[in-house]
Amino acid sequence: MLVSLHTYLFGPVAGSISYSEFKRLVKEGRVESCQITSSLIRGTIKEDEIGLQKKKTFVTARVDDPELVKELEAKGIKYSGDYESTGIQKFLFTWIIPIGIFFLIWRFAFKKFGPTGGVMSFGRSKGKLYAQEDLKFSFNDVAGIDEAKEELSEVVEFLRTPHKFTNLGGKIPKGVLLVGAPGTGKTLLAKAVAGEAGVPFFSISGSEFVEMFVGVGAARVRDMFNQADQKAPCIIFIDELDALGKTRGINPIGGHDEREQTLNQLLVEMDGFDSNKGFIIMSATNRPETLDPALLRPGRFDRQVVVDRPDLNGREAILRIHTKGVKLDTNVNLKSIAAMTPGFVGADLANIVNEAALLAARRNKQTVGTSEIEEAIERVMAGLEKKKRLINKKEKEIVAHHECGHALVASSLSTTDKVKKISIIPRGVAALGYTLQLPTEDRYMMTKVELVDRISVLLGGRVAEELIFNEVSTGAQNDLEKASDIARRMVKYYGMSDKLGIVTFEQENKPAFLIGALGPKKEYSEETAREIDLEVKRIVDETYRKTKEILEKKKDMLIKLAKTLMEKEIIEEEELEKILNEEKEKKN
Ligand code: ADP
Ligand code: MG
Ligand code: ZN
Repeated sequence: MLVSLHTYLFGPVAGSISYSEFKRLVKEGRVESCQITSSLIRGTIKEDEIGLQKKKTFVTARVDDPELVKELEAKGIKYSGDYESTGIQKFLFTWIIPIGIFFLIWRFAFKKFGPTGGVMSFGRSKGKLYAQEDLKFSFNDVAGIDEAKEELSEVVEFLRTPHKFTNLGGKIPKGVLLVGAPGTGKTLLAKAVAGEAGVPFFSISGSEFVEMFVGVGAARVRDMFNQADQKAPCIIFIDELDALGKTRGINPIGGHDEREQTLNQLLVEMDGFDSNKGFIIMSATNRPETLDPALLRPGRFDRQVVVDRPDLNGREAILRIHTKGVKLDTNVNLKSIAAMTPGFVGADLANIVNEAALLAARRNKQTVGTSEIEEAIERVMAGLEKKKRLINKKEKEIVAHHECGHALVASSLSTTDKVKKISIIPRGVAALGYTLQLPTEDRYMMTKVELVDRISVLLGGRVAEELIFNEVSTGAQNDLEKASDIARRMVKYYGMSDKLGIVTFEQENKPAFLIGALGPKKEYSEETAREIDLEVKRIVDETYRKTKEILEKKKDMLIKLAKTLMEKEIIEEEELEKILNEEKEKKN
């Protein structure tokens, strides 16, 4: 610290040089200026013409040298003496300030960890305990995520009357993981569960666990479980689990020991406690894919609840909640506001209402009008676009046609699963939209035709994009990967290629670590590998052509369907069938 303080105060130090060196520099005319004190000479060296030597400062001990001033004069070097005040300055900088800084750090550390316990209390949990009366949230404060609410009502039921469940010998979930995009209301939902059940609520954020001293996080976890044990029935809520629960042990130089220890402790505690005691661990994350798989095993966070972005009706309901305490103009129509805000999550909508109220206040209005709300939407939208959380109109159009492409192909082929739902509400982290197909029965075997049809459905999205927009987007990458994967399996494992015959070329289900470490062992020649590639390409290409034919014939229907989807954002099974039948009748 002292060294850096010096550098900060006196610029980059070239280091101390000997007096003779200093004299040489003076003679060569390379010194720019110097400052002579009673014991030191400090100065700067000129920059080289060629720029190799940057400007530097140097220090040298002063030697009694009566010639020096003359030489400096002769070379035209600027020099100055100094008062003895440097002594005081130096004292200040080397002693008083550092001591002051240390003192502040010490004060800070004590303040943070409590005045009495000091170091001894590092391990105490920082989990905030909310008293019941603080937990004023109930399910009425959460809207637009009804499916998640429904799933959690079982948890509420259990916390209210644990013995009712245990008497029947039922197994209670230990851990519930809420998964959803930021701002969809995961934290709110967890508090609402506690509020509904009327039980204490310990809340801590995953990032708070990752502290600076090894072992502290683990001790905190232990402490938190101890406290919860005494307060049961209750809820432990770990927000932002991903900060703590990232996959362990890929870091070659030992990794983040502290985080790993904390995570291990959490796993140990979760395995150790008896779920019939009456406490439940809830947790939230927006990045489930980064979580250590160990966290998701049975007996841990095995219950996962998806908290989706709200649809049109959901957004209206959320707006209704947040405008409750706001004086709105009578002509404000929440439904049309909901229609203007596709892709917005609960936090965004709360933000809009707040912004609009502020705007109205600034304009000295008595009520919040549509114009304020529209302006607030624009502001919030601009912020979200910067964060790449919203899709623009063109993208929405592409996604809509893409998804309808999947759905139309699926409903045109005889062997494919029924389409349950088409949606362009972004879900999870990556997908912009999705088409949900559910099998009508359990399948253990598939025929060649079925597999080809499946490829066809996967390609349907891309084909639709090409057909309507005459260009393709990057959105189909995952589909194409899956399609070629199926084709490759058909050729390599199932012997479904006429050209290569009924031979399998590789054993399936090799241990995964072998594939990573050594690469899959090939049991065939380069020649065959090439032929396999060609066969895979042929299957995909042929299916693509077939899919294109299907969709070309139904282009009108595709456009109609996509238009409906853009308006409603979600099309359910019955409505899809209705639209398809209407179009069919029109044709006849
Ligand atoms: P997350 O934890 O998923 O990031 P939060 O629960 O912190 O989101 O949500 C932030 C705020 O946004 C909440 O306090 C609430 O005011 C509002 N909000 C979010 N989702 C909803 C919802 N579904 N219903 C009502 N309000 C919501
Ligand atoms: Mg949160
Ligand atoms: Zn797709």
